[in-house]
Amino acid sequence: MKKNYDVIVLGGGISGLTLAKRLSENGKSVLIIEKDKVVGGLSQSITYKGFTLDFSAHRFHTNNKKLLAEIMKYKKLNFKIFRKLSRIYMFNKYLKYPFELQNLLRAMPLHQALKSTFSFFYNEISRRISPDKKLISYKDWFINIYGYSLYKVMCEPYTSKIWKTDPSKLSADWANQRFKTENIKLLIKRIIIKALKFDFSSYSLNDDNLAPDGGNFYYPQKGGIQALANAIKNEATNTGSQILLNSEIKKINKQKKEVTFMHNNKLRLLKYSSLVSTIPLHDLSLYLNDNYFFKLTNKLKYMDITFVYLFLDVNSVSKDHWLYFPDKDIIFNRAVEFSNWGSSMCPKGKTSICFDITHFSKKGIHKLSDDDLVRRVINDAKASKYLSNEKILDSLVVHVNNAYPFYDLNYSKKLKKIVSYYEDASHFLLGRTGIFRYNNSDNSIEMGFELAERMLAGKKGILDYTIEDASL
Ligand SMILES: Cc1cc2nc3c(=O)[nH]c(=O)nc-3n(C[C@H](O)[C@H](O)[C@H](O)COP(=O)(O)OP(=O)(O)OC[C@H]3O[C@@H](n4cnc5c(N)ncnc54)[C@H](O)[C@@H]3O)c2cc1C
Repeated sequence: MKKNYDVIVLGGGISGLTLAKRLSENGKSVLIIEKDKVVGGLSQSITYKGFTLDFSAHRFHTNNKKLLAEIMKYKKLNFKIFRKLSRIYMFNKYLKYPFELQNLLRAMPLHQALKSTFSFFYNEISRRISPDKKLISYKDWFINIYGYSLYKVMCEPYTSKIWKTDPSKLSADWANQRFKTENIKLLIKRIIIKALKFDFSSYSLNDDNLAPDGGNFYYPQKGGIQALANAIKNEATNTGSQILLNSEIKKINKQKKEVTFMHNNKLRLLKYSSLVSTIPLHDLSLYLNDNYFFKLTNKLKYMDITFVYLFLDVNSVSKDHWLYFPDKDIIFNRAVEFSNWGSSMCPKGKTSICFDITHFSKKGIHKLSDDDLVRRVINDAKASKYLSNEKILDSLVVHVNNAYPFYDLNYSKKLKKIVSYYEDASHFLLGRTGIFRYNNSDNSIEMGFELAERMLAGKKGILDYTIEDASL
């Protein structure tokens, strides 16, 4: 029997769940079709031999007070506030992160520190003389704030390592979205005042406005970041949304407004009034069987990520929530220690660490077996003196595809074309993966609510492009 839904949502990540909640509480019948055995998508947690593991660091931070107030009301979320502790490994030292420029300069060889200071002030003066420089690439964006010498030290190595791409070939949008809530002007002012006063003291991590990437953050007291997805899921199902897990989409017929999928070994066909996709764009194009859309979506690429988890027989290795490793000879980008995220994360007396490695699939690290990867991670962690002789009890390797939308210099034009071709009054794109947006989870929640409001008001999608805008 064909069942009709007002809205079918493809994907039960944070954005799809939030949209479903808002629509079903406004009387719409909503069904989420999710391929995985749990909801949460990128914000899910794994339980393994008594350890709770996230996909790397998943702190919750937002400057949207209304959003925070709503989330805090969700049952069984039990958010606890943390003061972020994070460091970066540079010049064979562990420096505080967010960067404290003065301390960074002190860690550098003297000639480099002098060069960087000169370049910072030179850049500051030239920016004041010509303030409206067009910032196209991430390189432009960074140099505009910190100057060329600091770009070479602070930005180029780490960015090239994460994205396997030179920052001059990455869009400045990435930084604009990533740091959109930060008060960059105030940050620069603070750096200058501290530099002129020879003040080597810390930034206050309580001061969210001036700590790039946020100072404090929220994290559930139990269950890892999965608790956030579960709390939103409960809100959605309590207001009537339905969720089908372990479902494999087979076909979407846009004209007839039908989705065909496998669930519990049965092929099902459902009709919808509106369809919201939060799944990777190239997957969507396969279900639509639309060659032109396939070609368009193939012009955008996502980056994959591999997580190597180590389980250690010690209380903790460091106090940091996470540490960055920009050195290109170290295979991982970041190390996240879960025992620092709450006592429920690890069995007593033990800790677990997630090392993340970004890549474009089937290249680079895929040549290494999982065992080789673990050996390499341990070797590099010891070489950088992050690990010493702690007893390693076990390891686990998890590969996740489509983890990061990759913002090349032309991504925005390509995306406009995709959105304007695909979206209409009944078909919408949403979320980090679905609309190719460098979202944090709070942005995905905001987007979910925003699209729901727009749909309820009969408006177009969030990225409302006209065909003229979309010319390539
Ligand atoms: C390594 C890493 C670290 C991060 N750290 C943070 C952080 O510290 N703080 C923060 O706020 N955010 C962080 N994020 C971002 C956060 O995870 C995302 O913004 C958020 O989870 C995105 O939710 P979404 O619903 O938009 O997308 P997704 O989570 O991608 O949701 C898409 C859903 O669709 C499902 N799906 C995919 N294909 C199909 C298919 N063919 N059929 C059916 N279902 C399908 C997926 O299983 C998933 O459930 C991080 C992300 C990564 C990768």
